[in-house]
Amino acid sequence: MGKPALVAVDDDPQVLRAVERDLRQKYGKDYRVLRAESGEEALKTVDQLKQRDETVALFVADQRMPGMTGVEFLEKARTIFPSAKRTLLTAYADTDAAINAINTAGIDYYLMKPWDPPDERLYPVLTDLLQDWQEDYKPTFEGVKVAGHRWSPEAHRIKDFLARNLIPYQWHDIEEEHTSCVVLEKAEAERPGQTLVVFQDGSHLLEPTNSQIAAKVGLRTTAQKPFYDLVIVGTGPGGLAAGVYGASEGLRCVMIEREAPGGQAGTSSRIENYLGFPSGLSGADLTRRALTQAQRFGAELISAQEAKSLKVEDPYRIVCLSDGSELRCHSVLIATGVWYSRLDAPGVEKLSGRGVFYGAAMTEAKGCEGKSVVLVGAGNSAGQAAIYFSKHACDVHLVVRGSSLGAKMSQYLVDRIENDPKMHVHLNSQIVEAHGDQYLEAVTFADIKSGEKMKIETPGLFIFIGATPQTDWVDAVLKRDNKGFILSGSSLAEGENRRPKGWKPDRDPFLLETCVPGVFVAGDVRCTSVKRVAAAVGEGSIAVQFIHEYLHEVRGAGVES
Ligand SMILES: Cc1cc2nc3c(=O)[nH]c(=O)nc-3n(C[C@H](O)[C@H](O)[C@H](O)COP(=O)(O)OP(=O)(O)OC[C@H]3O[C@@H](n4cnc5c(N)ncnc54)[C@H](O)[C@@H]3O)c2cc1C
Repeated sequence: MGKPALVAVDDDPQVLRAVERDLRQKYGKDYRVLRAESGEEALKTVDQLKQRDETVALFVADQRMPGMTGVEFLEKARTIFPSAKRTLLTAYADTDAAINAINTAGIDYYLMKPWDPPDERLYPVLTDLLQDWQEDYKPTFEGVKVAGHRWSPEAHRIKDFLARNLIPYQWHDIEEEHTSCVVLEKAEAERPGQTLVVFQDGSHLLEPTNSQIAAKVGLRTTAQKPFYDLVIVGTGPGGLAAGVYGASEGLRCVMIEREAPGGQAGTSSRIENYLGFPSGLSGADLTRRALTQAQRFGAELISAQEAKSLKVEDPYRIVCLSDGSELRCHSVLIATGVWYSRLDAPGVEKLSGRGVFYGAAMTEAKGCEGKSVVLVGAGNSAGQAAIYFSKHACDVHLVVRGSSLGAKMSQYLVDRIENDPKMHVHLNSQIVEAHGDQYLEAVTFADIKSGEKMKIETPGLFIFIGATPQTDWVDAVLKRDNKGFILSGSSLAEGENRRPKGWKPDRDPFLLETCVPGVFVAGDVRCTSVKRVAAAVGEGSIAVQFIHEYLHEVRGAGVES
């Protein structure tokens, strides 16, 4: 966005040049000086500024102009930029008209022509007016703007994608904002009900896909190299750790992420048990640090792309992406984690994204300000989210199937929940129904034993139950357990045989190596993994050690890339 504008309007070219010169000389550093030879021309310029979400600080208009007088122009300009200061240039003969205009048209000042010397007769007045204007001026937000309906699942997806990719944005709720904001006007006019995203360059898209957003905000969505030593799928803690260790040890690494770096950990409001951070750190902070570290060592990140299939063309491994492109490499690390299971209760699916959310959905916390919220789950993620929401909501209802909170949740979280007067823990309970037509209005849950029901009016139901890996894309190639977790190392043993069927190398699979040599797995997606940040980080870094050994093997066989 440009500097605020000062707009000078005069039909006399000589006077116009003089105003422009004097304005530029004194205020050119902080303001843009624009000129027009008539009121009509000036209004066009002013309209364009408004369209671009730019602003005007001051109008200086001559009273005597053919077509539109200075006062008429300033009255019209006032409707477009109400807070801009308005000054009229007058000849001595027009003084009365100017004084009247101060009262009737809200003109801030009139200046007599000629104004020489400007240091005495022009600048003191204008500087005063501009200082006044500055006091009320809030610079327009320069980043991405998102305008839409609060209950639109698409709006939620877009906000979540921007937030989790650490891209600052400004949210405009169409139902709540009654300002004359250009962004909102565009959204309503183009297609009511849809979410509009306005980018920093002024361009806009209606309900863009994640990859369209990624391309517009400068995230890389395609590979830079024709071949990699290591392709890492997923950038949760496991993938990021592999990126740091792999790249720092000289491997040509690329990391693929379909949503946002940080994975599950990135959605955490506060991770308190990660080594070296005694007062905890937010998932966003951990992600930003780890990503910077990996990229500093030269690891590439491809955003908003999903790995769709894995092909083996010995000695090469090929990862096929959602845009149809392929990444060729020697080795692959799968670190795709897990995500929450769906809750099966009437109304839940229909209202998903419209008040019902899986995971912490921290972007929605503001919308719950001062209201009750309902959370389902008893793990650490539910506990952290409950503590986070209690800062915003008036009441937090935690619905837990089991008979004790401490069975799965760390004691420090249990203690905090039990000592927070805003928390209401409902043990032995389950969600019975989510109510609402367009968006969530209330949730009913019931005591499993007694059947007694309770209905809470709420704008937010946040679900943290179970966790499933999404590994169908490797189904044809890798061995998985019956829940979809990927088998590796010694868990591939079949009876007496320590090597899986079809295994070619003259050695057992390495620790973390899958049934395909050179394809490794780390973190939550691995069968029998410990679901912790530190465990994923440890596995991501250990995998790199075995990847070196594998690459040594491949290169020892004389394969070049
Ligand atoms: C809210 C919350 C709070 C938590 N708090 C703690 C805590 O305090 N302490 C702790 O130790 N643990 C905590 N955990 C658990 C911890 O975050 C996980 O164990 C850890 O993030 C697992 O890391 P990961 O790298 O294996 O996978 P994930 O973090 O799940 O990351 C996997 C990534 O892979 C991406 N992906 C998946 N499939 C594909 C594909 N096909 N193509 C491209 N990308 C793909 C996903 O989008 C995701 O970004 C928490 C979890 C949650 C949800």
